[in-house]
Amino acid sequence: MSWKDSIFKQLGKLNPRFLASIEKSMKAIPGISQKIDGEYAGIMVDLENSAKPYRNKFTTFAQIPQKGRDHSDILREMESMREMEESHWKDGFISGAVYHGDQEHIDFLNKVYAINSQSNPLHADVWPSATKFEAEIVAMTGDMLGGAGQDVCGTLSSGGTESIMLAMKTYRDWALETKGITRPEMIVPITAHAAFDKASQYFNIKTIHVPVDENFRADVNAVRKAITSNTIVIVGSAPSFPHGAIDPIEELSALALQNKIGFHVDACLGGFVLPWAEKLGYPVPLFDFRFPGVTSMSADTHKYGYAAKGTSVILYRGQELRHFQYYTTTEWPGGLYFSPTFAGSRPGALSAACWAALTTIGADGYLSATKKIMETAAMIKQGIREIPELHILGDPLFVVAFASESINVYKVLDYMSHKKWSLNGLHKPTCVHICITLRHTQPGVAERFLSDLREAVEHVKQHPAEKGTMAPVYGMAATLPLRGMVSDLLKKYLDVIYKV
Ligand SMILES: *Cc1c(COP(=O)(O)O)cnc(C)c1O
Repeated sequence: MSWKDSIFKQLGKLNPRFLASIEKSMKAIPGISQKIDGEYAGIMVDLENSAKPYRNKFTTFAQIPQKGRDHSDILREMESMREMEESHWKDGFISGAVYHGDQEHIDFLNKVYAINSQSNPLHADVWPSATKFEAEIVAMTGDMLGGAGQDVCGTLSSGGTESIMLAMKTYRDWALETKGITRPEMIVPITAHAAFDKASQYFNIKTIHVPVDENFRADVNAVRKAITSNTIVIVGSAPSFPHGAIDPIEELSALALQNKIGFHVDACLGGFVLPWAEKLGYPVPLFDFRFPGVTSMSADTHKYGYAAKGTSVILYRGQELRHFQYYTTTEWPGGLYFSPTFAGSRPGALSAACWAALTTIGADGYLSATKKIMETAAMIKQGIREIPELHILGDPLFVVAFASESINVYKVLDYMSHKKWSLNGLHKPTCVHICITLRHTQPGVAERFLSDLREAVEHVKQHPAEKGTMAPVYGMAATLPLRGMVSDLLKKYLDVIYKV
């Protein structure tokens, strides 16, 4: 055992809270910090090389070039980068990321973008088209999510994270104004998206985490016990990002109603799948505004809505709640200023492309896309169930997480990445997931995934001592008791991303 492993093993026995509190002072002990940095240096070099493959292939700019470059040069370079990157996602090797990706659809969205490239919804007087597109996207999404005939409204945002953060800020301001809550708390299942924690950090809302049950669904009793007079909102996912589990929305809705608090359903991932799966007759529990306690929902048009990246919808029950999201100022010398979301100026072309995606695909298109995804998911789940070393976590629909009792599943992930697959490595518990998109419904993709997975499992079984490249990093990130160090490492990685 290395010095590090043995220290970490000892540290692992300590109370995590206590550990966090002494972590800073431990790093201040001469030698410790340097030693740790030394250990990380090698990892950082590897990460840098993989994050920056173009350094020797293309000209690098750290300054604006004196003389502008020819369009043709720029386009040629970009085309060659696209060529190197495209087959990876186009041939269905990636979990999530690109949800549609058919060339005809991409070409159409690009045309729509080109027509609207100058549009900015901040200037509603100049581009009433953007206003029309955004209002209709919100209305169509609300209607799809059980809002028909109810007072459901909302806004467009730049993505799921913004939708979630806007909702949490909205509840904070609503609770302060209507209930005088100055120390707000949000109740969040541990499996809810990291965007909720981000909102908690940005907006000073205390997160009360609740556990999930053996099927990775929020523990309703724990939520009930966590409710206090400072609770502003409870959160549920439909489904969750890690394990694709749909939280008990009906029970949580009832709790929210009973306690007169907000209930946000995060349907960023499932918002444009579950309504259609339900119509197709799949056993999907209700998860939307049809439950009276659901006061807001997020649904990502840029995932299974099949729009270009950069749009999501945040919906509220009632105009009053939405008002707490808006920003207005009447005192600025720049004039009366108001905006619905975090951004000021916004890309109207993306709203146009989103509207075009929703209206060209249509209900028939969403139904047939969902059918294909559900059928491919069923095939992949069946294939995984037939591999004795693996088991599926919970009972998912289209995000399938698997783990193993007998082999290191991060090594399986490693082997899969050598076969070009980009799956997600998750922890707490250790598992790997694939989020099934239209890319995986192409002929042969699911079969290739399963045969590569069988091969990977067989390989790891035969070579249990082989270290792998990323497996140790995942393993370390999952088990390292000093979480601040893992966090430092991630910050260093972000620094690398911004190196030219
Ligand atoms: C993707 C996702 C989000 C966040 O969305 P971004 O568009 O990446 O900001 C939130 N919740 C769930 C369940 C998601 O899958």
